[in-house]
Amino acid sequence: MRRPLVAANWKMNLLQAEAAVWCRSLRRDLAGGSGAARVVVFPSFPLLPVVSRELAGSHPGDIAVGGQDLHPNDKGAHTGDVSAAQLADAGCTWALCGHSERRRDHGESDELVEKKVEAALRHGLTPMICIGETRDERHAGRTFEVLERQLRAALASRPSAFALAYEPVWAIGTGETATPETAQEAHAFLRRLLGDLGQTAEEISILYGGSVTPDNAAGLIAQPDIDGFLVGGASLDPRNFLTIIRVSG
Ligand code: PEP
Repeated sequence: MRRPLVAANWKMNLLQAEAAVWCRSLRRDLAGGSGAARVVVFPSFPLLPVVSRELAGSHPGDIAVGGQDLHPNDKGAHTGDVSAAQLADAGCTWALCGHSERRRDHGESDELVEKKVEAALRHGLTPMICIGETRDERHAGRTFEVLERQLRAALASRPSAFALAYEPVWAIGTGETATPETAQEAHAFLRRLLGDLGQTAEEISILYGGSVTPDNAAGLIAQPDIDGFLVGGASLDPRNFLTIIRVSG
């Protein structure tokens, strides 16, 4: 039985004081527990100390913290980068690997994403591996080919633990959500592929991401292979994020 997993990706938003207010608000509203759902927050790097501090002791394990990216190496001369060990030291237990905005803005390849997955696991972080097709790829009928290429590469080292986020690039930050049927079709494909790749497919959480809001979450979570959400824009308002958690749990 897969427990729902709902994650907030703040991207490059919020300042320390705003992050603290957000955490206190979510903690207060989740005081009775998060229902069935597990919750992860992915703040930008400078916010990790304040978020870790504010969420410490919040129903142990209920609200976890993760880094939005990490360098594949453990340390060294990589100005501007952050290591898995530094994320763990800052209170993270998760790391996003291969978000499409990293692939787009920083030219991250499938091979680099795989190395990040390995680095995360070396330091006790659970990777949340993001994959998804662009609008052109979907229109060209190449969605499944792209997803398969990205997933096979990311899992080349046969990672022991991870979550998967299916995020169609055309749906991220656009307000254009995949329909429940379209998302389910991709999730079912990915679950079959996980099995083909020797993973315990029924146990792996596959999240949907792409313009998820309190209004469309219920239809998506009702699909059998959608196990939760990676939420960008709508997660910046803790009340919206709370509603998505409640709908999911
Ligand atoms: C994301 O950042 O992963 C995301 C899905 O963003 P949004 O919810 O804003 O589309």
